Amino acid sequence: MVRGPTTLTAHLDRRRVRPITVLGHVGGAWLRSQRERYRPEGRPLAEDEEALLAPHFGRSTLSSVRIALVPGSGRPPFYRETTRVALDLAGMSAITLVDTIVVNRRFVEEPLPGALLFHELVHVVQFEALGAEEFARRYVLGWLRGGLSYSAIPLERAACRLQATFQNGTLTGRVVGPMATDGTADLEVRTGRATERRGTGGAG
Ligand SMILES: [Zn+2]
Repeated sequence: MVRGPTTLTAHLDRRRVRPITVLGHVGGAWLRSQRERYRPEGRPLAEDEEALLAPHFGRSTLSSVRIALVPGSGRPPFYRETTRVALDLAGMSAITLVDTIVVNRRFVEEPLPGALLFHELVHVVQFEALGAEEFARRYVLGWLRGGLSYSAIPLERAACRLQATFQNGTLTGRVVGPMATDGTADLEVRTGRATERRGTGGAG
């Protein structure tokens, strides 16, 4: 079982919700709070970055995204909080918080690699489709089911697969969000002729 923050655990026990739902709520709340923290220092996509990504993402997605670069010495500032939801992100180059991409300068500097931006933009689309709570629930569930392996998480596998096609030049069409609502592992992000997505869901 993954331990949550004490106060939240006490609160949620009272409500008798299922453990995975709890993880979704805890993770969703954490994602939103971190998004609020980093978004003010974020920058929009640069012109060349937007041009690179424009064939594959909707305009509202591209204009809503912000990128915050955090200092690269030692553990990234989000390390302590991430351990509270038991996902160790200390070794990661970037994390997407709803519509805000936090880049760990310990590993990556400007100009940001297109493949990294593409990968994180796929997560932004997943957030748009699922919302923060459902994203967190599926992420944690996939991680638990996959034996605590990052590479077994369906949301990550979809992003990595699409990233590979982007990098080898075979990706055509636009990345559209996963719509399955059963919460199981068959979640796929697919490409297709996109109906323009409604506005971003990440205003909260
Ligand atoms: Zn990822």
